[in-house]
Amino acid sequence: MFIVFGLQNICTHIIICKYLPCLTTVAADDWSYWGDHGPSQWGGLCATGKKQSPINVVTEDTVKTDMGPLKFARYDFAYSAKVTNNGHSVKVQLEEVPTQLKGSNLPTKYILEQMHFHWPAEHTIDGTRDVLELHLVHYSSHYNDTAMASQHDNGIAVVATLFELSNEDNLDLMPIIKATELVSKTVGKSTELTESKIVPFLLLPKDHSSYYHYSGSLTTPGCQESVMWFIFADKLHISEAQLEVFKNVGSNNGTLSFNYRPTQPLEERKVYHHLDGYSSATAITSNLFLTCLSILLSKLLHAQ
Ligand SMILES: [Zn+2]
Repeated sequence: MFIVFGLQNICTHIIICKYLPCLTTVAADDWSYWGDHGPSQWGGLCATGKKQSPINVVTEDTVKTDMGPLKFARYDFAYSAKVTNNGHSVKVQLEEVPTQLKGSNLPTKYILEQMHFHWPAEHTIDGTRDVLELHLVHYSSHYNDTAMASQHDNGIAVVATLFELSNEDNLDLMPIIKATELVSKTVGKSTELTESKIVPFLLLPKDHSSYYHYSGSLTTPGCQESVMWFIFADKLHISEAQLEVFKNVGSNNGTLSFNYRPTQPLEERKVYHHLDGYSSATAITSNLFLTCLSILLSKLLHAQ
């Protein structure tokens, strides 16, 4: 997850820092995914935090529960969009009406600010790292933008979609892939999608009934611990040729052949596994039923 501070956001941040205790530093643009400025050298909360992201999700250790479905308002509209090479990722910003996330355990509605990609994925599931991860970054409607929201607990909600390799191109990604080719050589370059629009709903996997949830941080400096994470268990696909386009994006430090932060310790946190309709009472009843059945069968066998 990732935020690039524009001039306006930097100003907002400076103003916030003047009047409130700031726990983090402004995300300086001199950080990298490798070398002298790589993740092991990131300072502040990135080094000292106890709720850092990404993590490895150990499915056996998750707490199964029904948290309610995530609700995506206006995700099914077709949007014009701006695609930018910011030197750390490819960022997609939708234009026109705001797109909102609510439901689950979210305390309010959250507004989609931008989407961006990590190749390979940042979150791993039982140690498996997928080839691509999309982060849909939302900020709480209590705040003005992501920069301000990142200073507050639960200020940000990120929905993550994981992608697996496939022989087929993902046609829903094509507008973004084509735009990425246009900006990949120049850091800071943007392009507007002209011929086609983006429907964000198509960038979510089809099955929304199962997702992992935990409390964590931004995955780029300053690693603010303000993020409610939602990672879908179902995945989308991408072809090798499409993935190559991302791997050829240029940065200030050579070709951005990868842009993931290593997984961080879970510490005291729990990871929840939302399953539509899951009830622990049902699970206990079903376990009791199985126990009774096995006792009954065993008695029947011994009676013969
Ligand atoms: Zn990200």
